[in-house]
Amino acid sequence: MSGASWETPEHAEFRTRVRDVLAETVLPHADRWEEQGRPDPAVWKALAAEGLLALGHHGEAFLDSAILLEELGRTGYAGVRAGIGVHAYMATSYLDLFGTPEQKEAYLEPARRGERVAALAITEADAGSDLSRLSTRARPRDGGGLLVDGEKLYVANGSQASFFVALVRTREEAAAPRRGLTGASLLLIDADTPGVRRTAQRMLGWRSADICTVVLDDVAVPDDRVLGRKDHALMHVIRGLDFERLVAGLLAVGGVAHCLDLLNGHIRRRRVKDTPLYGHQVVRHAFAELTADHELVTQYGRHAALLHSRGELDSRTATVLKLKATELAVRAAHVCLQFHGAQGCLDESTAARLYRDASAGTIAAGASELLRELI
Ligand SMILES: Cc1cc2nc3c(=O)[nH]c(=O)nc-3n(C[C@H](O)[C@H](O)[C@H](O)COP(=O)(O)OP(=O)(O)OC[C@H]3O[C@@H](n4cnc5c(N)ncnc54)[C@H](O)[C@@H]3O)c2cc1C
Repeated sequence: MSGASWETPEHAEFRTRVRDVLAETVLPHADRWEEQGRPDPAVWKALAAEGLLALGHHGEAFLDSAILLEELGRTGYAGVRAGIGVHAYMATSYLDLFGTPEQKEAYLEPARRGERVAALAITEADAGSDLSRLSTRARPRDGGGLLVDGEKLYVANGSQASFFVALVRTREEAAAPRRGLTGASLLLIDADTPGVRRTAQRMLGWRSADICTVVLDDVAVPDDRVLGRKDHALMHVIRGLDFERLVAGLLAVGGVAHCLDLLNGHIRRRRVKDTPLYGHQVVRHAFAELTADHELVTQYGRHAALLHSRGELDSRTATVLKLKATELAVRAAHVCLQFHGAQGCLDESTAARLYRDASAGTIAAGASELLRELI
């Protein structure tokens, strides 16, 4: 795969360094993390020590982030990449965009140093694709601040998070269902506040992403933890979702690269009828088709990253990238598993993990059907 048109020799060098760091900090442990359902806490400081949790969210500096995101995908562990992606980009982007100087100092800077772990708590049992059904509520607390009640689901980094960026209804008169996101706010909720309870959710894929249910039971949140404009989260979330889809798309682009590397190696090694699998035209063509589509989606991802770095990324480009990259990941994982035969059906095989992981990619950060509607 050739580099992006914007990739300078310094970017290429950075890519090599990132790959080396991930080979050292992630790959030797990732199978164990899959089993235990979360990474070791030490990973955050290890990545921060290499500067990888503090890369830019905007401007030219985002191009380094685009490289990191692809390379995280290339590790082949979608759970790990999701946890890091949520921490360093999806959750913290709200702080970066809308945080006050005090909020940035208390939350964003420690997150960049790997001292505090960030999670994003948006989804609820009845509010996934349709956030108008959001039911987590905040009411005024005697003596000041807010009291929050509700239950958030599928929260990546859930058990390790030091704080949640949570979407909550803060204006009571808008609390009736089907009122869009009017009266909702983003709140910074410290995970050690009394009333916060977290329970691990065992998922089909993304097993190392530390996915949890987070119950909020009369959780006290001071007024200065409202992130952005109170009661006006809608415009923040729309902006955040475009960024989230760009990030998810770039992670998936790297994930497909890993899957194709695995498939390539396998079809060259595995012999059927006295010839390696790739000696059969049907296998070669399946591989070629995926490789060609990966080339297209990779270049589209790098184009989207460049647009974002110039402040020109539009919702449509972010949406197309997320849709196409995650759906290609599903196709690639299916072909990869098929050509592994029964070996690919073993629960502990890499092909099986890629297949499980790919299925979550077309749901998280916007289900494909919703994305098609948006396009
Ligand atoms: C592995 C994983 C990690 C996640 N991590 C987080 C996280 O860290 N924080 C967080 O807040 N949330 C997280 N989520 C939740 C994710 O954002 C939601 O799953 C997603 O928004 C879809 O919502 P839902 O699951 O409730 O599906 P629903 O909204 O119930 O939709 C079910 C299905 O209906 C179909 N559908 C949806 N909309 C339409 C439409 N308009 N037209 C036709 N069909 C449609 C799709 O096939 C969709 O999959 C995660 C999810 C997964 C799977």
